[in-house]
Amino acid sequence: MTKRVYRFKEGNAEMKEILGGKGANLAEMTRLGLPVPDGFTISTEACMDYLNNGQAFTSELKKEIETYLEQLELSSGKSFDDPENIMLLSVRSGAKFSMPGMMDTVLNLGLNDENVKHLATITQDESFAYDCYRRLLQMFGDVVFGIDTSHFEGYLDFYKQKHSVLVDSDLTAEQLKEIVTEYKRIYLEIKKLEFPQDPREQLFAAVEAVFSSWNNERAKIYRQLHRIPDNLGTAVNIQLMVFGNSGNQSGTGVAFTRNPSTGENKLFGEYLINAQGEDVVAGIRTPLPIANLKEAMPEVYQQFVEMSELLEKHYRDMQDIEFTIENKKLYLLQTRNGKRTAHSAFKIAVDLVEEGLKTKEEGIMSLDPQSVNQLLHPVFVEEALKEADLVSKAGLPASPGSATGRICFDAATAKEWVDRGEKVVLVRQETSPEDIGGMVVSEAIVTSRGGMTSHAAVVARGMGTCCVAGCSELEIDEFLKVVKYPNGTLTEGDVISVDGTNGDIYVGHVELTLSEKNEYFEQIMAWSKEFARLEIRMNAETENDIKTGIAFDANGIGLARTEHMFFAPERLIEMRRFILSDSTLARKEALETILEYQIEDFKTIFSTTQEKAVVVRLLDPPLHEFVPSKQADVERVAKEMDIRYEVLQQRINELHEINPMLGHRGCRLAITYPELYLMQAEAIIRSAISLQREMKLDVNPEIMIPLVGMTGELTILKEKINQHIQHILEEEKATIAYTLGTMIELPRACLIADELVKDADFFSFGTNDLTQMTYGFSRDDAAKYINQYITDGILPVDPFQTIDEEGVGELIRIAVKKARTIKPKMKIGVCGELGGDPESIAFFDKLGLDYVSCSPYRVPVAYIAAAQSAIQSK
Ligand code: ADP
Ligand code: MG
Ligand code: MG
Repeated sequence: MTKRVYRFKEGNAEMKEILGGKGANLAEMTRLGLPVPDGFTISTEACMDYLNNGQAFTSELKKEIETYLEQLELSSGKSFDDPENIMLLSVRSGAKFSMPGMMDTVLNLGLNDENVKHLATITQDESFAYDCYRRLLQMFGDVVFGIDTSHFEGYLDFYKQKHSVLVDSDLTAEQLKEIVTEYKRIYLEIKKLEFPQDPREQLFAAVEAVFSSWNNERAKIYRQLHRIPDNLGTAVNIQLMVFGNSGNQSGTGVAFTRNPSTGENKLFGEYLINAQGEDVVAGIRTPLPIANLKEAMPEVYQQFVEMSELLEKHYRDMQDIEFTIENKKLYLLQTRNGKRTAHSAFKIAVDLVEEGLKTKEEGIMSLDPQSVNQLLHPVFVEEALKEADLVSKAGLPASPGSATGRICFDAATAKEWVDRGEKVVLVRQETSPEDIGGMVVSEAIVTSRGGMTSHAAVVARGMGTCCVAGCSELEIDEFLKVVKYPNGTLTEGDVISVDGTNGDIYVGHVELTLSEKNEYFEQIMAWSKEFARLEIRMNAETENDIKTGIAFDANGIGLARTEHMFFAPERLIEMRRFILSDSTLARKEALETILEYQIEDFKTIFSTTQEKAVVVRLLDPPLHEFVPSKQADVERVAKEMDIRYEVLQQRINELHEINPMLGHRGCRLAITYPELYLMQAEAIIRSAISLQREMKLDVNPEIMIPLVGMTGELTILKEKINQHIQHILEEEKATIAYTLGTMIELPRACLIADELVKDADFFSFGTNDLTQMTYGFSRDDAAKYINQYITDGILPVDPFQTIDEEGVGELIRIAVKKARTIKPKMKIGVCGELGGDPESIAFFDKLGLDYVSCSPYRVPVAYIAAAQSAIQSK
């Protein structure tokens, strides 16, 4: 029989797979001798067994749990049935990867109508005992019976208002008893069920409920969002209760060993006196900063500081610690590597390396490459801010970044509006795990209650969404959909601008710009470049984009698309003349004019990149993209070209294709109109010659022919282009070292790579088309069904975003192998979206490619991903 239950002292931090993150860390802290209330963990395997067996609890598991329960009774000297030493337990979920607030917890389990009286006698504190009982009733009702917490909370609010009680902790024992009675009535009313009085029955029901919570909606969404597999299951931790709600010498709190927002190396956290469990994060009472504890309970504070330092050193990372103080005695209830903003992640990684707690490699490995995007978050333009009307400066800077959007007061509306293309800001009194679907799609999140560790703050930081929390100046009415602020009122749909970096909120749309880079970012980039084996290039052709990429230290351009250059009005006319005219002379003249433009285009590109590598792709799209489609436009163009409308329309109709993506495009264009590619090749060479003469720049253009599928295409075009270039070079008495390569973007090209390689100086995988052609998915339409494929598990991820290793990846593997058998040093790169995706980059790195090319803003992401892959393969 496999072991399914583990005492805390039997486990350790390495056992996350079986014990879940929370359980493994509780075990580790127990091992370290830290004050963790004793308990045991039911494994994730037990959870998966339960879920796979039609939700049936096996008698073996039940027995095993009973055994551990007895052990716990023995060692603690407490028991469910001992009126003088009542054992109360917490039942806590905890999966391998932390999913804050996504699953369920039940506290004070073991109380019933009898035990609550004993607890009152033992502690001589009746209100404490009934406070525990009403909490149990609410949590158990919610978690086990699915009674919405609003039934309990609604009544509690009503009761407090009626008796003019401000905070929960001011309720008297008599009042709490009334509330408990009402809560039990709610069970009957809503579920026609009694609250189970038998503690063992409570326990097993709670364990089952935690198992099942693995599959609740919000947990599923969270897993999808963070790409956590569905088959891991959650462990269940059963632990002796300690009581932060047992008076004014007690309390509960959460702290980070460093600031999760800025990364500052200083304890950061909050606590509440006389409170239990989620009171701190629920934002019901406003918690105190952890520094206050120093005065309130100096010894406890000192102990906590020491323990948190110990934990940080032990885990060699910033920790997020949950603690409870019971009558001045400190207990640790949880630790984990703290979630943090991208900004703080970079600072913490650099600091930990410099403090000697981590190696450079570990520093780089600790980062999520994608999170760089948040560092490069936009900020509000200073001047625009001066003009803007303030809503409030009273909020907390809970998650940095700036964003604007229209106000929505609930998650469902936010989702709906985003689906129809709006940008929204979710504005709520506080958020709860039910809101996750709306938070994901919002540009920013604003709450009027709760602190820096409130649900909204933690989740927003995790998602990299900007957030202002606890803005008490806002009076938010979620029902009427209005928010009052000191100088006015806003309603649903109004635009606001939110600055999560300083907590400010403004009326209307404030203009955004990109933020400055910072020293920690620079340091990580420098280290990443040390480790990365792959070269990182950019896909860019405009001067601005190229400069952006160069600022991030891109090793040149992996893909300069030339088609964009044809769309400026004066060129479009010439292009159309070329495409649509049937006079050879007119076509020749059109090309000559375009040639002059193109020379200037390439001069700009080559002079901006200086002597860095540049791959120029010759014209790729089908010609019909350049011709007008609306009747009015056709009429206008006909006039411009001085031909009859009917003639022009006829010519346009001829260009029409049923499947343009599989149509007359790429090198196929040049097989029928070689003069197009010759003109482009000429422009490339002439611009290189003139830069050589004017600026002494040694430009070595890499000319790339797209969409080759047959050797003949390449041989013919190569011959023509080479001849044409030779002719120019002789005429100009110049020498330009250029290379001629091809894009590999058809499955057939992959399979004949050993032939193509003979005529090509380099290959670049065009992964967008290759994916499209391999699946037969139209890139432009696939979005309609791809999500369904992912939901149904047919596809693990969108293959246009992350390499499909078994299909598209296999083709690439074959092509690389075939090419390098013939030419071992063949230069091979990747351009296309996958060139900026960390997982795909790791795949390309392991295949031994020379470079990946991505959009300029993804260059830093690509460097970190390439470094991580290189470190992993060491
Ligand atoms: P989550 O995964 O949502 O953080 P937890 O299992 O950590 O849920 O439980 C939430 C809170 O309940 C804890 O932060 C702690 O305050 C309280 N809690 C859990 N177990 C105990 C316990 N044994 N004694 C006292 N409080 C507890
Ligand atoms: Mg929770
Ligand atoms: Mg917790």
